[in-house]
Amino acid sequence: MKRRSFLRTAGLAGIALTGGLQACGGAKGRNGAGTNGVKESGAPQPYKVGGKARMKLSFEPYELQLRHTFTVASYSRKTTPGVQVRIDYDGFIGYGEASMPPYLGQTTDSVCNFLKRVDLGQFSDPFQIEDILSYIDSLSEGDSAAKAAVDIALHDLVGKLLGQPWFRIWGLDPAKVPCTTFTIGIDTPEVVRQKTEECAGRFKILKVKVGLDNDEQMIRAIRSVTDLPLAVDANQGWKDRQKALDEIFWLKEQGVVMVEQPMSKERLEDNAWITEHSPLPIYADEAIQRLKDLPGIKGAYNGINIKLMKCTGMREARKMADYARTEGMRVMLGCMTETSCAVTLTDGKLILPDRPGLGLIKL
Ligand SMILES: [Mg+2]
Repeated sequence: MKRRSFLRTAGLAGIALTGGLQACGGAKGRNGAGTNGVKESGAPQPYKVGGKARMKLSFEPYELQLRHTFTVASYSRKTTPGVQVRIDYDGFIGYGEASMPPYLGQTTDSVCNFLKRVDLGQFSDPFQIEDILSYIDSLSEGDSAAKAAVDIALHDLVGKLLGQPWFRIWGLDPAKVPCTTFTIGIDTPEVVRQKTEECAGRFKILKVKVGLDNDEQMIRAIRSVTDLPLAVDANQGWKDRQKALDEIFWLKEQGVVMVEQPMSKERLEDNAWITEHSPLPIYADEAIQRLKDLPGIKGAYNGINIKLMKCTGMREARKMADYARTEGMRVMLGCMTETSCAVTLTDGKLILPDRPGLGLIKL
């Protein structure tokens, strides 16, 4: 599947697609609405459950080609496999996707094998999100990306049935969306400068992968191009806590504003020691996957990085954010290398389309 033929959010596609609803197939549901949850009169109408409609899940694998080889402290890659998921229900369509970078331990085969086991036909009411996603979670111990794909598609579907975007259903203000970072992987100074020049004008803050023996070289290469604020992610690459702390003080002088996963997730006390002494906030990433992991890291980090592909999707991500804030921890949302199905940006900020569901249509 080519990226240009993949999903876009309706918020961006609306201008280019004069026939947006046609692009969605134009199917009519029992409630008389098109696949975007908008009746032909134009006004969004809430869906009324009660017919014989059942959900049907389908999926399609793809592989994303990255513009640059992406290197972090533990591996490099030039592609990322993914699987697009679609849930059809009474003329409405919800879309989701699974993205599987190698460290996640999940593959196209594992995701497809999981999805083959999913039977959504047993549910007549898509609004029973808790029951449906609890069933999805009960099918295996792992498979977080496959579960996230179903979760995203179900949320997109339900939002379309309600005729409202999810930020509104959750009571959130899209104007308060914070700036997001663009990640620059570990590379030679020449490539790092090139990557920085490509992205510096489009983002308000950059994230830099560190953790090997060329951290200073990386930072200086970026600083030769831009003075934008930087976040750094060591991906567990630092091995000595005092050296790590010394480097964090130096990074602060270079305009770094936060640090992610300085040391191995197994070394909880060392990470907690760094957090206690650090002049910059320290975030956990590899140390947490799901909600159940949060009590175990309490006090060891200032914040957490929540990723849909690790935590099984929007339902659990919301619970993790609520838990973290209750415990006084900061929250950031991370991603893998998803398509615009799971990540859409403009001017350095995430776009929250004012369209039903997640605003997803298929071009
Ligand atoms: Mg990270």
